Amino acid sequence: MLPYFPAPYPDELLYSLLARYHRHTCTVSPKRTLDDLFGSRSVRATIDLPRHLGALSRHLPPDRALTPERLALEFTLFPYLTAYQPPAVVANVLMALIGGEAGGLHLRLGIAASTVSSPTTLRYCTACDTEALDRWGECYWRRTHQLPGVLVCPSHGVPLADSGVAPSLGHQHEFIAAGNRTIESRASPPWEGNERCRAILLEVAIRSAALLCVVPQGIIPADLTARYRRALIDRHLASAGGRVDQKRLHDAFNTTFGPARSALPEIAETNWLSSIVRKHRHAFHALHHVLFGLFLDRYVPIPGADSSVSRRLVATPDFINRLRNLVSQGEGLRAAARALDVDTNTVRRHATKLGLPTPWRPLVHPQPRAKEDPGPAIRMRWLELQRREPQLGRKALAGHLPAEHAWLYRHDRAWLDTHSPVPTIRPPPMACVDWPTIDLCLAAGLREAAEAIIPLAPPVRVTLAELERRLGRPGWIGKRRTKLPETLTMLAFVMESTESFQIRRVAWARNVLEQSGEPAPAWKVRRLARLPDRISDKVQQALSIIEPHNGNPAPCR
Ligand SMILES: [Zn+2]
Repeated sequence: MLPYFPAPYPDELLYSLLARYHRHTCTVSPKRTLDDLFGSRSVRATIDLPRHLGALSRHLPPDRALTPERLALEFTLFPYLTAYQPPAVVANVLMALIGGEAGGLHLRLGIAASTVSSPTTLRYCTACDTEALDRWGECYWRRTHQLPGVLVCPSHGVPLADSGVAPSLGHQHEFIAAGNRTIESRASPPWEGNERCRAILLEVAIRSAALLCVVPQGIIPADLTARYRRALIDRHLASAGGRVDQKRLHDAFNTTFGPARSALPEIAETNWLSSIVRKHRHAFHALHHVLFGLFLDRYVPIPGADSSVSRRLVATPDFINRLRNLVSQGEGLRAAARALDVDTNTVRRHATKLGLPTPWRPLVHPQPRAKEDPGPAIRMRWLELQRREPQLGRKALAGHLPAEHAWLYRHDRAWLDTHSPVPTIRPPPMACVDWPTIDLCLAAGLREAAEAIIPLAPPVRVTLAELERRLGRPGWIGKRRTKLPETLTMLAFVMESTESFQIRRVAWARNVLEQSGEPAPAWKVRRLARLPDRISDKVQQALSIIEPHNGNPAPCR
């Protein structure tokens, strides 16, 4: 069981959490970190679907409450990648993530065969980084930014930047933490400045991000096919019988997404579109479903352009009489349509409405729409308003979107809490202070202060008093211990015992003597390290080690 594990940040990727653990513990060997975390040195550092979550969970401090299921749902791309999969696949993949069962995950999800390519390097948003630095004192990798097809930050609407960190190409057993970078110059994507393109990419990003916030329940492929078919019939892109007009569908899709064609290959190449509206013979990538759902919402049929719409007005008494006669004469569907100069769907619809005994199949009315989960759309509106009005606090946001706020408050309060602005920290009165946020910020501050103390020469001991002094809050933490659990955990982790400080001084003293070219016998080291007369066995041991290396502590990255 690990004595320390970092507190996760909102939307943080598991890869990032493990990378921060590696950095915070100043472990030099990546394999050692794997051993600490998983009890195995052969685990791969994976971004999208990391496995062995069961073993990882068993090693983490229990007060973090990071169960294997929670790790999968809140810190991996599992909810996104399984959002449109059958229930059996969802369960199967979850089991594989927990148990570490080898291979085949991407194949099972239809990702391996899909034309959608996952990003090869970890990506980040400079605005998110700046906020994280201000708030937590360090940057981290976010899940949302690593989703395929997400090219802009859903919170800030700015293009994502490539970090160059590519775990799949080398570094397979190493977790690399996000750098604490300030805004750096980078090449602009060719579509930057194209506002219509950016708007489409932002919607794709918001919808994709929303999938990460929903627990995947599994969807029966036949239900999905039926749902898509009904949507196309409603938009006059399929006949009442469900026959899809592929040409019009592709034209409509290209018109709707035209401005973003050059930015997103999945929009330019639409082979998948023909098959996603047919019976699903294989799994589709979540990005294809996201794009199709967005298309259905954005596409507005042009009134009059559709024959079945324009000819709805022909049901005059004369038309009805002629239809009755044709049916009684036993005319076929096509012949009747030709004689009446309308399309076959119109003939079928009116004959069914009049209850005529036709030689052709009567029109079966499509089933009414199943009630859809309003959650994704509500979450999207909540995030979108925050993006548009970043200065608004939670109360003001709720004033703008009262129904959405009420729904989220009732149905998904945890999500609402993590996806709403954190109240600004004000000085007293203490009654309205947000302790959890102060706690996390303070813990981050302690770690930074400790990292600043360690390289000092001559060495300074990392004590509560020294840390408080550096944070400009002497005596502050000691009086508020009960309100600061994260801070206390961090404190226990960074504070030095007398013994470990003495060992560090011994290493420093030996290094100083060696650097000056003097011999470094134990008595000299002891004097320079200012050790007391009585020292513990471990310090004695450190003193008697004769080794040529410089005694610097392991460098923190
Ligand atoms: Zn951002």
